[in-house]
Amino acid sequence: MQVQQNISLLPYNTFGIDAKAEQLLVVTDKAQLAAIANNSTLPKEKHIIGGGSNILLTHDVPGLTLLNQLKGIELIKEDDAHVWVQVASGEVWHEFVLYAIDHDWGGVENLSLIPGTVGAAPMQNIGAYGVEAKEVIETVTAWHWEEQKFLTYTNEECHFGYRDSIFKHELKEKVFITDVVFKLDKEHSFNTNYGAIQQELDSAGVKELSIKAISNAVIAIRSSKLPNPKEIGNAGSFFKNPVIAKEHFEQLLQEHPEIPHYPVDDTNVKVLAGWLIEQCQFKGIKRGHTGVHEKQALVLVNRGGANGQEVWELSEEILQTVHSKFGIMLEREVQIW
Ligand SMILES: Cc1cc2nc3c(=O)[nH]c(=O)nc-3n(C[C@H](O)[C@H](O)[C@H](O)COP(=O)(O)OP(=O)(O)OC[C@H]3O[C@@H](n4cnc5c(N)ncnc54)[C@H](O)[C@@H]3O)c2cc1C
Repeated sequence: MQVQQNISLLPYNTFGIDAKAEQLLVVTDKAQLAAIANNSTLPKEKHIIGGGSNILLTHDVPGLTLLNQLKGIELIKEDDAHVWVQVASGEVWHEFVLYAIDHDWGGVENLSLIPGTVGAAPMQNIGAYGVEAKEVIETVTAWHWEEQKFLTYTNEECHFGYRDSIFKHELKEKVFITDVVFKLDKEHSFNTNYGAIQQELDSAGVKELSIKAISNAVIAIRSSKLPNPKEIGNAGSFFKNPVIAKEHFEQLLQEHPEIPHYPVDDTNVKVLAGWLIEQCQFKGIKRGHTGVHEKQALVLVNRGGANGQEVWELSEEILQTVHSKFGIMLEREVQIW
């Protein structure tokens, strides 16, 4: 095991923050995890980075940072209607999506082009274009640092919610996710209702619907809409869309009849965080080395040489301003380190 000391994490986070890891170790084999746990010379404090596309580094990272590069995709079971595919957590999410589409396995096509690794997908139950990872995850296997063994969690045990799971709460920093088993469809049910998918399919002249066509449509929409971290540092949506009580929403509606919203259930309504932020005049602002993207008010950006602390301070200012204008406390989607 080759541990590197005092290493810049700049290449390993899409925000492009130049913080340092006290120690860094690349994980390529599951057997390394027991060896790391039993090695008394290594720090007890451990952090895991996959693609680094959902973290904000606000300081140098103490202890041992593990860079996940576990690889492998295996078909473990199938019947007439489904396949069960075990995917190592260090696989790149979008490459797994393309692999599934090549094999004509449906269920993840709407999640095309989401950055990051397979192991982080259950962490925040990634979602896009009307689909969430929880709909296709069968089990999640992880190395538990305290129990010193691999444990498998069923979909129910993962307590998935909107950008949420047990891995953000009870199991936060306690496990290293090593494998995810997905249950995918051989017979497809297409989901084209959300966002501009149908419009994109029409303008591409698609006559026969397929998972490949949906994936291509999602890739085209995302590429035109979302800032590419290779061009401008960011971690996608910085905040979650808040869910508020219906009474609160009805008060807001009187003052802001145009407020975009989606009913959640009989008592709650989801409103769009990007719209709230835009109403507070943050869209497109520049603040030192950081700011808010010109086209996406939900995306905080590194305009070059930003440190994590200044991005965090801007996010705090946005939280407080939205709260005093609308009485809504936004929640950060990005993990703050
Ligand atoms: C341009 C852009 C667009 C995005 N669009 C979307 C979107 O549409 N929908 C969406 O849901 N997200 C989106 N995201 C966010 C991001 O892609 C997801 O959160 C993704 O799952 C993060 O994967 P990662 O491997 O980069 O995680 P990292 O950033 O490396 O890690 C995120 C968190 O998960 C933990 N973690 C990572 N791997 C493991 C593991 N193996 N075991 C235990 N803990 C682990 C880390 O410690 C950290 O706390 C977007 C991000 C960007 C930059």
